[in-house]
Amino acid sequence: MKHETTVPGLPSDFPSFPDFAPGEVWLVGAGPGDPRLLTLMALHALREADTIIHDALIAPGALGLACPDATIRSVGKRGGQPSPQQSEITEQLIGLARQGRKVLRLKGGDPFVFGRGGEEASALADAGIPFRIVPGLTSGLAGAALAGIPATTRDTNHAVILATGYRAEGHPDEQDWEAIARTGQPVILYMAMARLEGIVAGFLRADADPQLPVAIVASATLPDERIVETSLSSAVEDVRTNEIGAPAIVVIGHNAKLGQTLRAALVDAVP
Ligand code: SAH
Repeated sequence: MKHETTVPGLPSDFPSFPDFAPGEVWLVGAGPGDPRLLTLMALHALREADTIIHDALIAPGALGLACPDATIRSVGKRGGQPSPQQSEITEQLIGLARQGRKVLRLKGGDPFVFGRGGEEASALADAGIPFRIVPGLTSGLAGAALAGIPATTRDTNHAVILATGYRAEGHPDEQDWEAIARTGQPVILYMAMARLEGIVAGFLRADADPQLPVAIVASATLPDERIVETSLSSAVEDVRTNEIGAPAIVVIGHNAKLGQTLRAALVDAVP
């Protein structure tokens, strides 16, 4: 069976994996960083692809699973640094697919959560390129879980908001942080470190409790992972004094305080 060659150790009645046909593009989520959090489908894709186009935040361990003769290219976008335009990336994907390559577009976390995977999928659809989506663990939810923070508990919330602190070109308006704060639901922020001060100010303008728990998880699941537990009024200062930088996710809400208790009991809690 096909999967015996790509993902060893599975029982014979395990569903087989799809063929990676030449000329296809697979948009694959690599999860938050630790390669052990890749899905089996992502592993299969890594083993089968002959061309891998990946983002900056992909841990080397994941790329080490690729077929040894695969061509691997980084098109990393890191805030402020020169990097390929999104249109250049989609052109590359389309061009490589038309050359008959098996193109794996490897993206951090989940390809459809703040990762421009939607734009890439639309471009592929417009160009008539066959493609597949392989979801991944999104860093916001995995990072929170790792810090012992359940995204929902029946006592604290009935919704959770995933939001980005960064607005793409052509969308210059700030998020309406006051409106988000007034929902009273926890917010998990991506790409928010540069704007944290403004975000906190928005929450406080909406009369959010200055003691509202905040947890920041930087480099979640990676060797340099760090967790800071703080409150709305101290978050900016604590980020500065602990020298916490991107990539990080920020959890604002009552569920964040559960992290302190649960982390004390977690086997692999970060010291
Ligand atoms: N598609 C990705 C998000 C891409 S946007 C996903 O689903 O996770 C990039 C942002 O994701 C970063 O600025 C940061 O907020 C977050 N992020 C990605 N990897 C992370 C990690 N290992 N630890 C903490 N935050 C991470």
